[in-house]
Order: sequence, then structure tokens, then C-alpha cells
Amino acid sequence: MLQDTSIGEGNEGFSELWKVMALPAQHFAQRVLVYKITTKDNLMNKGIIMSSTTCVMCAVEDEIINHLFFKCKIEWYMWNQYTKWFAIVGVHHFKVDHDFKQFYLMELSKKRNNARRCLWMVMVGYNWNQRNNILF
Ligand SMILES: [Zn+2]
Repeated sequence: MLQDTSIGEGNEGFSELWKVMALPAQHFAQRVLVYKITTKDNLMNKGIIMSSTTCVMCAVEDEIINHLFFKCKIEWYMWNQYTKWFAIVGVHHFKVDHDFKQFYLMELSKKRNNARRCLWMVMVGYNWNQRNNILF
């Protein structure tokens, strides 16, 4: 069953996003945090596609945003690799806003937290590009 999850601009993760002075990836990350990217479930809800919503990464689950970026076994593997490469300690959250929030640590400086959040944005963008490379 498809999920209709909505978080708005009042969301804490969303407002925190704009404290990071970032890149073009910032715009994409904003759309991810408000669940406005063109995942298959969003396209089906809008009547744009009528066929399968199966995730192109694992071909098992429905492609909803939280699955695509965090629950999918392929994405989960990629996040494990990223966190190892960048020595980021944390847990894998299954909701985008929860995952984004963990890239802020109170004990770190603003500069280091901004760097961590930039990493999150780049990783989410990279995963989206990988999905699109398979799909198109
Ligand atoms: Zn999947």
C-alpha cells in the first residue's frame, strides 16, 4: 500500500535545511524533505503513471520516498558505505526528516554541522541520480 506522507514547511528539518549555505543540491533536498519529488507513488497519485510503482533499485517494494532513500536494501547498503567513508556515526532512520536531523550534532560547530548536512544533501542527490540512471 502506498503511503501519503506530508510534512510541510513548518517542519523543523525543513527550516534547518536553510541554515546550511549550500549548493544546487539544497533545492533537491528541500523537495525531498517535503516529499515533493517525482517518485513512482507521487506520479501514480497524480495519474501520470498507471502501471507498477515497484522500486527500480530493489524491484521488491513500492517506490515511496522513505523506501527509496532509506528502507530499500540497495539504498541501505549505499548509506552504510557513505557513513563508513565519512566516519559518520548514527543510526539509519526510515523517514527523510529524521535522517536529516541526525546530521546535526549539538557538540559540533556550525561549520562542521553545515558540512555534515551538505554531505546528507549530496548523498541523497547521488542516490536519486543512481535511481534515475537505472530508470531512464
Ligand atoms: Zn527498493
